[in-house]
Amino acid sequence: MLSSTAINELSAELSGYVLQPGDPDYEKALQIDNGRIQFRPALIIFPAVVNDVRIGMRFAIRHHLPLSIKGGGHSAAGYCMNEGGVVIAMKNLNKISFDPKKETLTAQMGVIWYDLYKYMQNTGTGLIPIGGGCPTVAPPGFMQGGGYSFVSRSYGMSIDNLLSLKIITPDGELRHIGLHSSDKEDIDLFWACRGGGGGNFGVVVEMEMKMRKPYSDTMLVGQIRYPLEATEEVLGYYNDWIEKVPNTMACYGYMGNQKDLVDPAKLVKVLGLTPVFNGECAEGMDLLQGLLKLKPINADLFNMTLPNWEFYNGNTTKVDGRASYIRSTVLPKGGMNNKVAKVIIDAIDDAPSSDSFAVWTSTGGVMEDIAPDATAYFHRHSRFVPEVKSIWPLNRPQDTLKNVQWAHDFFEKMAEAGNATGAYVNYIDPLQHDWAKMYYGENYKRLLEIKKRVDPHNYFNFQQGIGSDFNPPKGPVTDLSPLNRTQYHQHQHKAAAELV
Ligand SMILES: Cc1cc2nc3c(=O)[nH]c(=O)nc-3n(C[C@H](O)[C@H](O)[C@H](O)COP(=O)(O)OP(=O)(O)OC[C@H]3O[C@@H](n4cnc5c(N)ncnc54)[C@H](O)[C@@H]3O)c2cc1C
Repeated sequence: MLSSTAINELSAELSGYVLQPGDPDYEKALQIDNGRIQFRPALIIFPAVVNDVRIGMRFAIRHHLPLSIKGGGHSAAGYCMNEGGVVIAMKNLNKISFDPKKETLTAQMGVIWYDLYKYMQNTGTGLIPIGGGCPTVAPPGFMQGGGYSFVSRSYGMSIDNLLSLKIITPDGELRHIGLHSSDKEDIDLFWACRGGGGGNFGVVVEMEMKMRKPYSDTMLVGQIRYPLEATEEVLGYYNDWIEKVPNTMACYGYMGNQKDLVDPAKLVKVLGLTPVFNGECAEGMDLLQGLLKLKPINADLFNMTLPNWEFYNGNTTKVDGRASYIRSTVLPKGGMNNKVAKVIIDAIDDAPSSDSFAVWTSTGGVMEDIAPDATAYFHRHSRFVPEVKSIWPLNRPQDTLKNVQWAHDFFEKMAEAGNATGAYVNYIDPLQHDWAKMYYGENYKRLLEIKKRVDPHNYFNFQQGIGSDFNPPKGPVTDLSPLNRTQYHQHQHKAAAELV
């Protein structure tokens, strides 16, 4: 139990503020995208200045409390929160600046992508950040996990556009690390922060990113929808087509229910393809002709700037407070094959909830030019990164098991049929067997070495944190308990707090 004296002393030291259970805004501050996750920390600290982050970290360590960092609150497993510990909620650290000469944007890590997209729109330069499809996602979690943007086939992953960052490491030091670094420790840590996943090495307080100029003012974007039964035919074409198109074309996928066009009260099962063409509309339309000949139900195609597309479409994959379980897989070239098409049709037909859906990210392009060990992000040779969101009403906890089992089995089958090579850490899944290998492949060994040096007392620990030996069993889901916790072993800070 924390004494009120300790909390009062902490509050007096902070420029920002603290919320605890019973405070009027505490319940609201608990909310994250996945409503199923309802952890109740003892304290939520809202830093107003960077030094508050250090004070919050030191407080958690001194009091032997679990410590988590909340950015945009989109962690599928809720690892931005914890039960009974300290959460540092970054949202009030939100200064942004732009250097027009270097075409770089520097932002404190309480921002979400929406803030950065709007900020860059207002510069009138036409430059864009390489950020998330959903504008409510935040850069710190997104970028540390790698970060796929709609234009990553043209400009690389989000981390390939990260120039430097400032991080407060567990020893309390504020380090500015990046491409400029010459010290081995800094080079290693910057490597780890590009793909090693959020919450492992310290608190990132600022990032400096390269802005990019799209190849035309507006992009061809939208969705082509087919009846689910056409999946085999469509993917048969798409699987080869995506290998032939230029890097400027990305084409994401959607599998699930959508409103019927004539009678919106009815739902239809669809396969959707979402092209994003970074170039002239007419050229993009030419590239889509083969797909448009495959008898779609309809095609909603627009010509708009990428940020406007993200504002218009980006929120459609949000869970928005409903109950959810999320799982991913990573498929190589040729992965959208006939066997996968059959798995998709069967799974969408059998979904216990019509709110559930799956999507895939279209990868490859220039992302593949970077070696899997050049950054901690391993899956450079992937072609498709599918993600399933099983979603059911929050007031039906009795439906949890069947909805989790459905998504889990769907993706186990898809992984097998598509020759999966791993899973994506940004869709972090407490039921992922062998998660360290699946997320990080051969890079895990170096991540572990860096973790031991940077955080020798393992202050930044969680169930699937670097170094955790937690490993859920393979096979059918019977035990849901990993979904209901952030910590694996009871958090124990044996070391002296004077370290920080
Ligand atoms: C609707 C939706 C759309 C998405 N779209 C995409 C997409 O287009 N491309 C893609 O690649 N991914 C996408 N994702 C996945 C997304 O990248 C991850 O969920 C990511 O972890 C979110 O980061 P966050 O900061 O918003 O979430 P949080 O839950 O706040 O953080 C995620 C993890 O990072 C840690 N963390 C947060 N802030 C910091 C910090 N300042 N320093 C250190 N660690 C920190 C947290 O403790 C947590 O473990 C999407 C997710 C959702 C829900």
